[in-house]
Amino acid sequence: MPPPGWLTDDEATACVFHRPARAGEHGAWPDWVSPQVRHALAGQGIDAPWRHQVEAAEAAFGGGHVALATGTASGKTLAYLLPVLAAALEGRVGGPASEAGGGVRGRLGLPGRHTALYLAPTKALAHDQLRACGALGLQDLRATTLDGDSGQDERRFAREFAGYVLSNPDMLHRSVLPQHRRWARFLGGLRYVVIDEAHRYRGVFGAHVAMVLRRLRRLCRHYGADPRFVFASATIADADAIGRALAGLDDVRLVATDSSPAAALDFVLRRPSPTLTEDASALLATLAGHGQTLAFTTSRVQAELIARRARERSDCPDSIAAYRGGYLAEDRRALEARLQSGQLRGVACTNALELGVDISGMDAVVSVGFPGTVSALWQQVGRAGRAGRDSLAVLLAREDPLDAYLVEHPDLVFTRPIERTVLYPDNPYVLGPHLAAAAQELPLTPEDAAFFGDQAVPVAERLAEQGALRRRPAGWFWPHAHRAVDAIDLRSMEGKACEVVDEQTGCVLGHVDPSAADHTLHPEAVYVHQGESWLIRDYDATDRVATAVRAGPEYVTQPLSMGTVRVLAVDRSRALGLGTVVYGTVELSSQVTGYLRRDAQTGQVWDSTPLDLPARSMVTKAVWWTLPPDVVDALDLTPAELPGAVHAAEHAGIGLLPAVVPCDRWDVGGLSSVAHPDTGRLTVFVHDGVRGGSGFAAQGFAEAERWWRAVLDRLTTCGCTDGCPACVVSPTCGSGNSPLDKRGAAELARLLALG
Ligand SMILES: [Zn+2]
Ligand SMILES: [Zn+2]
Repeated sequence: MPPPGWLTDDEATACVFHRPARAGEHGAWPDWVSPQVRHALAGQGIDAPWRHQVEAAEAAFGGGHVALATGTASGKTLAYLLPVLAAALEGRVGGPASEAGGGVRGRLGLPGRHTALYLAPTKALAHDQLRACGALGLQDLRATTLDGDSGQDERRFAREFAGYVLSNPDMLHRSVLPQHRRWARFLGGLRYVVIDEAHRYRGVFGAHVAMVLRRLRRLCRHYGADPRFVFASATIADADAIGRALAGLDDVRLVATDSSPAAALDFVLRRPSPTLTEDASALLATLAGHGQTLAFTTSRVQAELIARRARERSDCPDSIAAYRGGYLAEDRRALEARLQSGQLRGVACTNALELGVDISGMDAVVSVGFPGTVSALWQQVGRAGRAGRDSLAVLLAREDPLDAYLVEHPDLVFTRPIERTVLYPDNPYVLGPHLAAAAQELPLTPEDAAFFGDQAVPVAERLAEQGALRRRPAGWFWPHAHRAVDAIDLRSMEGKACEVVDEQTGCVLGHVDPSAADHTLHPEAVYVHQGESWLIRDYDATDRVATAVRAGPEYVTQPLSMGTVRVLAVDRSRALGLGTVVYGTVELSSQVTGYLRRDAQTGQVWDSTPLDLPARSMVTKAVWWTLPPDVVDALDLTPAELPGAVHAAEHAGIGLLPAVVPCDRWDVGGLSSVAHPDTGRLTVFVHDGVRGGSGFAAQGFAEAERWWRAVLDRLTTCGCTDGCPACVVSPTCGSGNSPLDKRGAAELARLLALG
């Protein structure tokens, strides 16, 4: 649908981008795709593959590793399903000519000899894939899901008979690899490993999954297999590099030219608005009157609120609904069916819609707030567009430095290569526990550095000194009775995550990283779990369990904390404008000292309550900059203004790091000082939020020039006078956003960005 006129010439519109329609380009079926598979696909309405599907399928069948990074709804599933079906259903694999016997395309093995594994970050995706396989009606395909809900029979079937297992990294880590002898058939026949949604494995989770995949490859080799990897990802700049980093492979072929058809698209970027929810509901109601529209929100509460307001505004309220995680499966299916049949015209949804089901072909998509990364934004936009019709996308920016910056710099959204994914497998707190797990799976030898990298041997030696491993002539062993994998949580650097439990029912509501426990699980903290509010009653740090009661308070809590940073080592440094930027190792010490209660609607502070909690310390990586005293003295700032200036610069820096590094502001922390004891200078630190580092600070160092130019840009263009949430006021500040001096921060940023 074309954008309504007011949407393109209104003052709040920063930019309108037009993408013309693209015709699809078909390829020819590879000759190794059997008539039965073609017939099954024809039954699903697929008569010919797109070119990118053929390219990726041929590369994998031919024995290569492949990264497929094409748009939403471009048919990535078919690309990897073709080689998977050839192997797991028909025992047919390709390979280098020498191996296949003088250029014969496709060797026929014994049926059941080859297996394939599909890994997705969520259970729902694996179940969706199984349904897609089932719809093909291939009776002999022995496919099954494997997750925490699988019963004993299903698990046995997967181990003993399945050709295609659809699972997740947690299951591989906790269940399959530690019991690999029972999985010898499956691992020994493993031909393909499909890593779906590969771009989601970033930060800590990505580093852990990278180790799990190395453990998998090592065990496969033990059983005589060397599986080929297919990474399916959103369109990000370096999907092949992610593949290499995730699985430790040398050579990954990138297939990124999307040859599926695309509708014409108008994409409108709207400036931050203080009445975001109202704007979003009005837009949803209007657009739903013209075509099917999805509005993506960042919380369940917001999804419900936008849907309710949009219904009030609509002539046809029954055609508008909310859709979010936490609905019963039947209700979700019913909503999906109404959406697909066209009965539902407007839906306000959380990302749950993206996670579970494959909805595309909408007329319009509204992103209510930037979803964190440019690739996530395009994932949402990709839900719009059906052949032969114009589609519309609208980004409604929040009052946030990153959102505000992006809409004023549309090239970041439309023309620049989309961001890279950051993961940091070198973190010693990740490598060590996984080496212990690997040693329990099979004794570890120096040759395993081929899988785990140069740090494997020194770290294994250190583990042996500490008594975690034992050195014997044949290698390093795990000498303990308990399971090494139980000490590892793939989403945390601190081992087992803290559980938040409903005091009434004992149900687990969610998990919190132990390093964040003091901040989010202190007594009387409001714990927001997917949009619903709970009050924390009690937290047991030893058992890592917090109890909570359901409550709908009119306020939120914000922890107050004090912190210090000690510089342990400098890895790299260089000039940045008139200052110096440094990357290195720091020790953070922080203590939660109390909390504020803030009005949930207005953000107004009600009161402040002190807490008596111990100081905690951790070693991690940080990027920091300093300015020499003579440069600072020459500024038009009084000594009394400096603390607010440096603090505001820290906030703006954290807020805009995601403009140059794919993290969100919750992944990093900061600290600023007018004269830091270790540097002796005015200093702003931005540090990784997890023990050992997550790679974000390292990227921040590499991109420091772009980063601080973005900060200066935001500070000098924000329309406010004394600082606002779109520039220097931070929702995560531990000292209640006091003091803050926006003008002073701009002066400091100018010295770094312009010299
Ligand atoms: Zn502002
Ligand atoms: Zn602060």
